[in-house]
Amino acid sequence: MISLIDTHAHLTYDGLAESIDDVLGRSRAAGVTKWISIGTDAEHNEKVVSLAAKYEYLYACLGIHPHHASEYKPEHIQRLIELIGSGKVVALGETGLDFHYNFSKQDAQKELFKRFLEIASLSRLPVVIHSRNAFEETMQILDNYADRTTKIVFHCYSGTIEQTREIIDKGFYISFTGIITFKNAELARECVKTVPLDRMMIETDCPYMSPEPMRKQKINEPALLIHTAQKIAELKGIDIETLSEQLENTTKEFFGI
Ligand SMILES: [Zn+2]
Ligand SMILES: [Zn+2]
Repeated sequence: MISLIDTHAHLTYDGLAESIDDVLGRSRAAGVTKWISIGTDAEHNEKVVSLAAKYEYLYACLGIHPHHASEYKPEHIQRLIELIGSGKVVALGETGLDFHYNFSKQDAQKELFKRFLEIASLSRLPVVIHSRNAFEETMQILDNYADRTTKIVFHCYSGTIEQTREIIDKGFYISFTGIITFKNAELARECVKTVPLDRMMIETDCPYMSPEPMRKQKINEPALLIHTAQKIAELKGIDIETLSEQLENTTKEFFGI
């Protein structure tokens, strides 16, 4: 029996939300039995909380994506703090820095990221970090909060071996997506080998990025997490049951679920 947890799914997005019962049904059938649904703006944070209230083993994580940093208003944060008290909110994020797309000004991204780290330290919730093309800046901000942050995970991870070591040395966690199954992702697979299972989690980041051999499936969904898990088991040289058990322990400990 395997029991995988999809630690980063956008279940309130188009393509998944309208057929959520079927999506979760297929997921359970594939052995993916728990889900963290991630908010990215004020509207989706509301939806994520409602979804978590409705489904057992589905948990809420509330954030404002760095892409939306320049749209954010103080009342969004006020509301987010209210929602934290509503139950089943297990983490904050995604938050962080995206200097690849730069959809929001870098200063606005940094300010919002710091605001989230402050809320996390007050609420004692773990933080899901989105960091793209901004490794040094992300680590620098995290360093400034080192004495008061809670647990930190770098989601949709793709970095170098050195960055991976730095993240692990700081006591943070790493979450891998289906990217590790892609043909050209040799470096990501090398990183997987170096991350201990008590610091590793896995995610779909659906509806984006279907893993191989389902990469052509336009809308990724939690059921497909099994392909990422199988690849990791292969890279670690262990069976899928052992991997599932260890990842489940790590994930439960990280999110307190
Ligand atoms: Zn992200
Ligand atoms: Zn995401």
